[in-house]
Amino acid sequence: MSNTRHNWTKEEILDIYNKPFMELLYEAATVHRKYHDPNTVQVSTLLSIKTGGCPEDCGYCPQAARYHTDVEGNDLMSVQQVKAQALRAKASGSSRVCMGAAWRNVKDGQEFDDVLEMVRTINKLDMEVCCTLGMLTENQAHRLAEAGLYAYNHNLDSSEEYYKEVISTRGFEDRLQTIDNVRKTNVTVCSGGIIGMGEKTEDRVGMLVALATLNPQPESVPINALVAVDGTPLEDQEPVSIWDMVRMVATTRIVMPETQVRLSAGRTQMSREGQAMCFFAGANSIFAGDKLLTTPNPDVNEDMEMFKMLGLNPQKPFIKKMQPNTVEAEDSKFQALGEKPKWSRPEHKIERNEEAKEKAKTLR
Ligand code: SF4
Repeated sequence: MSNTRHNWTKEEILDIYNKPFMELLYEAATVHRKYHDPNTVQVSTLLSIKTGGCPEDCGYCPQAARYHTDVEGNDLMSVQQVKAQALRAKASGSSRVCMGAAWRNVKDGQEFDDVLEMVRTINKLDMEVCCTLGMLTENQAHRLAEAGLYAYNHNLDSSEEYYKEVISTRGFEDRLQTIDNVRKTNVTVCSGGIIGMGEKTEDRVGMLVALATLNPQPESVPINALVAVDGTPLEDQEPVSIWDMVRMVATTRIVMPETQVRLSAGRTQMSREGQAMCFFAGANSIFAGDKLLTTPNPDVNEDMEMFKMLGLNPQKPFIKKMQPNTVEAEDSKFQALGEKPKWSRPEHKIERNEEAKEKAKTLR
């Protein structure tokens, strides 16, 4: 039986986060060695299957239609295009393909049917398949599970309090509801957040409380360092220091010992020494590929060189959990219901989001 605790308090996690650096690092590395092979790192490839034009107002995101950024939108990729990219990712050492679509929520229809076909196709390549498609109903989660989905990503982004300072078009409770819907299937949960958005330490810790008190905890927790993109409301944020990044990774490792802690956006700003410290502190997953949806990421060859230097090995697929079966569309037990769920729209005003929106109007 698992010894993982689900009753962490904010004070306890804050005490861990604020420990003397070396002590924190040592404790995290000790926990890491108890639960994981410290020389194995899971490698995922993130694929933007539908880019830009998103109706949401996430302050960090260059894909939000209301801000003026360099992102060029595109329609949903074809199944064949996705298959070709997945094969390339597999050849370069990735065990997982994560498909991201800039949608507020999943809508039943041809596009979702196409995504289900993409899931079937990649699962049949014997790779783990993850999707990040926005809010999701329970029936849609079941349809993805039947197609062979391994993981669903839905980040909490920050603490519940600070979330309101970053996003006004959807509520924190909807994030939790989607995670709960995924939990009604055998699909694993990937959920984490972003640091460097102007939040306080208490908000970073608040997010970890929200994740660590889920039962079960997410199987994967991405820790992103904000990539401040021109035109977004957070364009002027200072880069996250490596010390903060390591503290966040180490604290995540200690409070969620079994999870895969994933280094995500912001790796291009980190030296190899910095990344090595993150691996030592318990990070055991990265995103590979030169783009993370729309922001830059280290080149695959550079990552493989780093792995060689550090003696790290890419994790094989389906080590943590068995490969799901794929049910073909015609044999599916779960059909499209055409649901119209009432996801929240808080629509409170976030000054910097409003300013970025107004500025975008003058630039178009
Ligand atoms: S983070 Fe996702 S939901 Fe938010 S604006 Fe970007 S694509 Fe849309």
